[in-house]
Amino acid sequence: MSLWPGHVRSRLTLWYVLVLGGLLTIYGGGTSFFFFISLREEVDRNLLEDIETVENLLTNEPDGFVSLGTVHSAEDDPALQRFVEVWSPSGHLLYRSPLLNGHPLGGPPTGDEGTAEPTPHSLRLVTGLRVRVASAVYHVEDRRVVVRVARSEEGTRRELHELVFVLALGFPASLLLAGVGGYALARKALAPVDAMTREAERVSAERLDQRLPVENPRDELGKLAGVFNAMLGRLESAFSQLRQFTADASHELRTPLTAIRSVGEIALQDLRTPVEYREAIGSMLEEVDRLTRLVESLLVLSRADAGHAQLRRAEISLLALADEAKSLVEVLAEEKQQRVILEGEADLTVSADRLILRQAIVNLLDNAIKYSPVGSRILIRAHSPEDGRARLEVIDDGPGVPPEHCPHIFDRFYRVDSARTREWGGAGLGLAIARWTVETHAGEIGVHSVEGAGSTFWINLPAIPARKEDHRAAHATTDSAGLKESDN
Ligand code: ADP
Repeated sequence: MSLWPGHVRSRLTLWYVLVLGGLLTIYGGGTSFFFFISLREEVDRNLLEDIETVENLLTNEPDGFVSLGTVHSAEDDPALQRFVEVWSPSGHLLYRSPLLNGHPLGGPPTGDEGTAEPTPHSLRLVTGLRVRVASAVYHVEDRRVVVRVARSEEGTRRELHELVFVLALGFPASLLLAGVGGYALARKALAPVDAMTREAERVSAERLDQRLPVENPRDELGKLAGVFNAMLGRLESAFSQLRQFTADASHELRTPLTAIRSVGEIALQDLRTPVEYREAIGSMLEEVDRLTRLVESLLVLSRADAGHAQLRRAEISLLALADEAKSLVEVLAEEKQQRVILEGEADLTVSADRLILRQAIVNLLDNAIKYSPVGSRILIRAHSPEDGRARLEVIDDGPGVPPEHCPHIFDRFYRVDSARTREWGGAGLGLAIARWTVETHAGEIGVHSVEGAGSTFWINLPAIPARKEDHRAAHATTDSAGLKESDN
């Protein structure tokens, strides 16, 4: 089990306390260090003054030793309150202050001790007392001696210990206060997250209309709630589209199934002639055909929704593709004695998946044939307007689409007149598939229509710019094949 706290607020508090602890340690350490250095500098300054005072008080004794004179009484003479040793350069002790109780301030002087500027250093006496010592060479009436003076460091150390003690006392108290305050702050700052969590838990597939509360849309949490709400909005509309699609698909599947069932039931009611049975089976097969087409369309759309369609793109001529689509539906046009005319620029090429894009053109042509009157004319035009796009138009002389329906006819299962189109077997999916197909090719699809005066369904696709030599050749082709016509 990890000791690292699981809650963000506890983690934030811990981080806060750790960082503050680190900062306080650095601050406390730095303060103590500089305090100690400044105290020691003061001791060293006093020590150098002491050396000068002591030097002036030294006198030679007849027995070869030296003595330290006094200026005041022994108690308040600062020179006598210090530890003093006087050595001859040959290493004989000439004087040691009584305060030292016979304990040495180091061994006999080395040859160069005291010759340079006196530099104090620390020393621990045999009694355990820590002192600062400085040495200097001096002449007592022409006699060269080495003078050592020392001062106790105990005062400095005591003051330092007091400071560290006070800082150490405040350290846990500050950390405790920071921890409690930090936890309260983190709790307050994260309270909206708790509220959002509770609200988000209540959101389910059945309650996608729920939204998270947004207290301040400009702060981070408000932005998060806004993004989450937008995502819920998208999910809600996707769910309702899915439900609608399932309901529409079930409805469309039920109609041919009901028809098959009732045709079968009627045929079974009485004993009938073989011709009547053949007729019943024929109309049942028609319904099965309708069902098959519907299921195929549903399959195409659900694959499209799942994003499984992999485009195998190639450079293809739009006019040639339209010609292929035309040959696929020609038999239907023949049944209605309609003429399908193909015209346009043969060099107009697009990058597309031949089979998928052809499906869109077939669907437009299928509609044009279905909805146009017997003996009418359907025109397919492939051309490139000034904007560098390739445009394909399917123009018919049918009943047209009423303006109020134009924005919806590309929606799934949308039919202008469901009773009328059912006669010809449409489920309202042909244009939805065409739109998906065109949009996966980064194109647009639309319709211009005047009610009662035909419709023009158009597809715009990014065109591949023609190479110069192709252009010249294509013009020749367009001249000869500029107007293709099929008499149906
Ligand atoms: P359907 O399978 O019913 O034809 P579509 O998605 O292909 O479904 O078309 C949707 C609706 O648009 C049709 O029901 C029809 O009312 C209308 N429509 C499509 N093409 C034409 C057209 N060329 N002329 C008139 N109406 C059309």
